[in-house]
Amino acid sequence: MLPTTADIVVIGGGCMGASVAYHLAARKAGTLVLLEREKFLAMGSSGRNAGGVRYQFSTPVNIQLSLYSLDVIARFQEIFGVSADYRPLGYVFLLTQPHEVQAFQQNIALQKALGVYDVRYLEPAEIARLAPHLNLEGVIGGSFCPRDGTADPHTITQTYASEAKKRGAHIETETNVIGIETQNGRVAKVKTNRGDIATRVVVNCAGPWAAQIGKLVDLEIPIVPLRRQFFNTSAIPEIPRDHPFVIEFTTSLYFHSDSTGLVVGMANKQEKPGETYAIDEAFHLETLERAVYRLPLLEHARVTSQTVGLYEVTPDAHPILGPARDVDGFYICAGFSGHGFQHSPAAGLMLSEIILDGAAKTIDVSMLDLERFREGRPVLEHNVV
Ligand SMILES: Cc1cc2nc3c(=O)[nH]c(=O)nc-3n(C[C@H](O)[C@H](O)[C@H](O)COP(=O)(O)OP(=O)(O)OC[C@H]3O[C@@H](n4cnc5c(N)ncnc54)[C@H](O)[C@@H]3O)c2cc1C
Repeated sequence: MLPTTADIVVIGGGCMGASVAYHLAARKAGTLVLLEREKFLAMGSSGRNAGGVRYQFSTPVNIQLSLYSLDVIARFQEIFGVSADYRPLGYVFLLTQPHEVQAFQQNIALQKALGVYDVRYLEPAEIARLAPHLNLEGVIGGSFCPRDGTADPHTITQTYASEAKKRGAHIETETNVIGIETQNGRVAKVKTNRGDIATRVVVNCAGPWAAQIGKLVDLEIPIVPLRRQFFNTSAIPEIPRDHPFVIEFTTSLYFHSDSTGLVVGMANKQEKPGETYAIDEAFHLETLERAVYRLPLLEHARVTSQTVGLYEVTPDAHPILGPARDVDGFYICAGFSGHGFQHSPAAGLMLSEIILDGAAKTIDVSMLDLERFREGRPVLEHNVV
């Protein structure tokens, strides 16, 4: 039975909703209900992503979210008794333009200053040693952090949800939020297909659909869904399982190993906002061609599967974390613009601190408020594709 009252209702059962629920439950924040409209958790972006985790961002806040989150991901087994399959493959950004080199050298200096001690600039000869099968035509340098890599989004989402449940949270799937009532400017009730829940606090963790949840309280949330796709290949014997994660910065082409072959993707910079999960076959071919150019061995592999998901994009490629000033009791943890899975451990903790302590204490995320957009205070990120 769906609870009829709750101290806090979390909307969305992806990695963000699960992490927020866990961190609130760990603080004994009262009765907590997480609502997910699908039959299972992680059916949205959290279950359709490439699993990349990295320290290499260009803003202090994103680097700090990575420092906290990747430490948790690396120690997941120790903390929760379940491995998050963290694989420190190292990310190599391939740089082909002089202005990229300049920007990445500045980023490296910032990352080091914040504690990413092992990030470094690479000359093409060093890239060739790390990844000997790459075609490095046009590559003038690179940026590398050996502790960047991959992890398993499903395990992280499911573990946070089950740990929240162990601490008393209600996880309700097949429960679609269809309305939110307010009273005197404050959240009062969440309406669902299975009944209503009286509450004074709602956390919007609806990822690509966060703007739709905002509309339920007449709030403009500038997050749009944007299709992104990748494919998996059959094994390529010459590419070891610990091959670095490679990203060609100009085109956004990336590839890394998975349990059998490679995961290969690229961002279509012409993609328009929308909710389709249909494969863009023309862009799939473009990705394939570019991937074969950079890694000619791919010519001998088969495409074994394709995945389509939705990025949840804000105008400055940073998330919205915090309360909505115009609606008391309405909080947002969404809009991670295609790199959210890796930041879910820190994001959940920050939201719990904002709700329970009035402000995030572990990391200053105050600049990630919703109001920054209408007040002209964007926080621009250079290292996202
Ligand atoms: C192709 C692709 C590759 C990616 N690669 C990476 C990567 O390498 N590394 C990385 O860190 N990130 C990556 N991302 C981004 C990452 O997946 C997202 O940032 C992250 O999953 C966002 O999590 P979320 O919980 O906010 O959203 P979601 O996982 O989408 O969860 C939102 C949930 O809200 C639910 N919901 C929506 N509306 C309602 C409603 N009315 N009622 C109830 N429930 C509702 C949805 O069903 C959904 O389950 C990638 C994304 C894509 C699409």
